[in-house]
Amino acid sequence: METIEKAIKTHALTKGEIITLLNIQDASLLYEAADRVRRESVGDGVHLRGLIEISTVCKRNCLYCGLRRDNKKIFRSRMTPKEIITHAQAAAKAGYTTLVLQGGEEDGFGADNMAGVIKEIKRLGLAVTLSLGEKSFEEYSLYRQAGADRYLLRIETTDKTLYEKLDPGMSFENRLRCLKDLGRLGYEVGSGFMVGLPDQSVDSIADDILFLKALPVHMAGIGPFIANPDTPLANCGKDNFDLSLKAMAVIRLLMPNINIPATTAMETLRPDGRFTALKSGANVIMPNVGGDMSEYYRLYPGKARAGEVKEYRAELEKKLKAIGRFIDEGPGISKAYIAEDKK
Ligand code: SAM
Ligand code: SF4
Repeated sequence: METIEKAIKTHALTKGEIITLLNIQDASLLYEAADRVRRESVGDGVHLRGLIEISTVCKRNCLYCGLRRDNKKIFRSRMTPKEIITHAQAAAKAGYTTLVLQGGEEDGFGADNMAGVIKEIKRLGLAVTLSLGEKSFEEYSLYRQAGADRYLLRIETTDKTLYEKLDPGMSFENRLRCLKDLGRLGYEVGSGFMVGLPDQSVDSIADDILFLKALPVHMAGIGPFIANPDTPLANCGKDNFDLSLKAMAVIRLLMPNINIPATTAMETLRPDGRFTALKSGANVIMPNVGGDMSEYYRLYPGKARAGEVKEYRAELEKKLKAIGRFIDEGPGISKAYIAEDKK
């Protein structure tokens, strides 16, 4: 297909061409192309990021998310610094080289305590990614100085009206400010969006893709929206797997050297959804290494969970080998970030 060939050669497409790819019925050529570009640009190594979900407390009220503050059905809990560090030590022992600390947006840890946790984890020799929502420039700066390497903050959708409807009380401008601040502070920046939100058009998803390319991001996480029965979007469920996979594959064609995770939401919708994603452009997996807390961290129903830290890693190694891939033992710095640094 001509559009795919153009994307492989130039890594640039018009919005209209992106929409054409998002609408194709049989996307097998698109997935094959994304897989080829992935292999040529970032290789066959798969980076593992050990995910620790550190808090189910959230001051925000995003309509789609099970952690929203008005959801009374969820058990709220926050790890202590000691608990986070214990999980980090176990993950390091099991061979993980990068951790992601993710949680609801809240201030309960105290910024200085969080900076202390980051310093402790850095002493273990691990790369640290944070995904804790919107903060001030000063707080992002404090965490960067403490040693944080990366930050994940999805734009969720670039349709400002839809964003502000789905994330009441939040401002699209502030989200952009946060992403810019993270870039200015020298973080490896990850962003992304959900696919299949109510009132989100394919046209708007094409804008989301172009936004990530323009920013630019070093990592892009694309996940299908999954309706959660304990949220106001309970009845908006449809299967957004294929459209998410197409969006992810197009991003690989347009941004060949970034990191792209095979998201948990994809695994939730399809058995082996993560492997399907790995074969369609993805090169990162984020297994949960945070123990019992994942029981309560219910963004959406059926959220896929990994088993014990060590066992999961061994099982994964075997499954990756079967598809010609391997666990990359390095810190997994995005090639897009390294290339920028050299400019
Ligand atoms: N609180 C931080 C934030 O919002 O950036 C980080 C944690 S938040 C739970 C991580 C991501 O989960 C969000 O960026 C959102 O894209 C995703 N998410 C939340 N609810 C979801 C749902 N129902 N289906 C799919 N993804 C969802
Ligand atoms: Fe809170 Fe993040 Fe969920 Fe929004 S998406 S309710 S900020 S945890």
